[in-house]
Amino acid sequence: MITLVSFRLLTWTWIGIALLLIPVQVVITAPYGRHSKTSWGPTIDNRLGWVLMEIVSPLAFGYFFLTGDNPKTGPAWLLFALWMGHYLNRSLIFPLRLRTAGKRMPVAIAASAVFFNLVNGSLNGYWLGTLGAPYSSGWWTDPRFLAGLSLFLTGAAINNWADNRLIHLRRQKDDTGYRMPSGGLFRFLSCPNHFGEIIEWTGFALLAWNLPALAFAVWTAANLIPRALAHHRWYRAHFPDYPPKRKAVIPGVL
Ligand code: NDP
Repeated sequence: MITLVSFRLLTWTWIGIALLLIPVQVVITAPYGRHSKTSWGPTIDNRLGWVLMEIVSPLAFGYFFLTGDNPKTGPAWLLFALWMGHYLNRSLIFPLRLRTAGKRMPVAIAASAVFFNLVNGSLNGYWLGTLGAPYSSGWWTDPRFLAGLSLFLTGAAINNWADNRLIHLRRQKDDTGYRMPSGGLFRFLSCPNHFGEIIEWTGFALLAWNLPALAFAVWTAANLIPRALAHHRWYRAHFPDYPPKRKAVIPGVL
């Protein structure tokens, strides 16, 4: 069994890796979707890639949560439900809804996401299932819990709304082109889906109030801010009439 000290060291190292990768991700955009490249080796079907890489997270999280000895108090079950709800959508429903017929992603991208989800799901599941102090019933009314839950739900709603809007920019299943998104938060941002996801996992870190959840929030921002900046540059390069005041991922700021 891993000790508390070594678990903390491991998780801080994991956070450090996310921070070190930010400049790398600013320079090298992960080559899937509109940034696809043929020079990254073998590829797999895009939707299959999404299922394979994302299903790892609920499996790892669920395994360590359910097999751990910690008492499963109400707040812990709520965290479990939020994680599972998000990932059942991301790994099974979202890929089925994508209109990316014939598109592929590099196996290297899917493999790196599998690794990320394995580590992230395991750290969070192991903490809640085994190492972390169990939540008491007083946690239900703690301001961190209440603020975190509100942020999580708001972020999830923004993320799903924006993903849905983007998916429906393609009118038919075999349409794989790009259109300029508009309306709602797209008036202010190129990537409200990424903005929503960052809010969602920041909220989770607040409501869970533990180190692995913080690590996930840091990784999400480290992955998605550079990706949103790349999307934003892409929109500007491909749509001459792109709204000049629209930001990439943080309203009014970035
Ligand atoms: P994108 O916004 O790039 O794409 C989402 C879907 O919409 C894709 O099917 C894409 O097609 C399509 N799409 C996007 N823009 C347009 C457009 N202008 N016109 C037509 N279709 C469009 O999202 P990502 O692929 O970057 O991410 C997908 C989800 O996964 C997001 O919710 C994101 O937050 C989440 N995610 C979370 C991460 C984390 O670390 N927590 C990391 C990465 C993603 P196509 O694929 O053909 O471009």
